[in-house]
Amino acid sequence: MSTPFEIYGPFGCGLAAIFGLVVGSFVNVLVHRLPRGESVISPPSHCPACGAGIRARDNVPVLSWLLLGGRCRVCGAPISARYPLLELANGALWVLVFLKARDGAELAGGLFFASACLALAAIDAEFQILPDKITLTGVASGIVLSFFSRTRTPGAALLGAAIGGGILYLIAFLYEKIAGQEGMGLGDVKMLAMIGAFLGPRGVLVSVLLASVSGSAAGLGAIAVGRGDRKMRLPFGVFLAAGGVAAFFLGDWLLGRYRSLWPR
Ligand SMILES: [Zn+2]
Repeated sequence: MSTPFEIYGPFGCGLAAIFGLVVGSFVNVLVHRLPRGESVISPPSHCPACGAGIRARDNVPVLSWLLLGGRCRVCGAPISARYPLLELANGALWVLVFLKARDGAELAGGLFFASACLALAAIDAEFQILPDKITLTGVASGIVLSFFSRTRTPGAALLGAAIGGGILYLIAFLYEKIAGQEGMGLGDVKMLAMIGAFLGPRGVLVSVLLASVSGSAAGLGAIAVGRGDRKMRLPFGVFLAAGGVAAFFLGDWLLGRYRSLWPR
């Protein structure tokens, strides 16, 4: 069975990059509007500073931002570099998913998963929330897509979601009992259920391990340079997103390395 890359080649890569940039633009809309409780469909894009509608030619991913010098055409207010950066990141992730996917279902799932993780990381970093509209939609999509997949089973998707939600819920519960303060929110639990729905039981364990290690390192680093303390609240969703995406691309390889450490 041919992979999407074997079928479509470099042409497919180009399409993945272009659609990745365009969907990256929509990821920006999600990041701006979901935490504010606004509709993600209407009204059309407008400048947050002056409210002027953004014309189609000023809404081309990355290019428009560069041509306008990072400013609104109407009022000149600066437009955050986060917009082109998220578009570029989404475009790059889509190309990588296209190169990695072994079949159509893995391609569709991987594209959705990568963009959802990117949106969740950006929202959690700025607002410290993980909207249900992304996490729960992700749980459902991960399970539904598994029925069309030859690389994973619905059983693995369901088990992954249950383990993802279950483990983190247990850790959060125990942490609160022992430390006497809330360590993680329910948003983190739902996000890990989403990761499990896409990556299955092993993938979700790799994700949570990578997220915990990188999150702890970042927390200790922040304390070391005097920018945080033990009570500081890290946006754990950012690390879960990074861990989930890393596990999607490298999970099998990491598990192989891990097994090779054990004597036979
Ligand atoms: Zn403006």
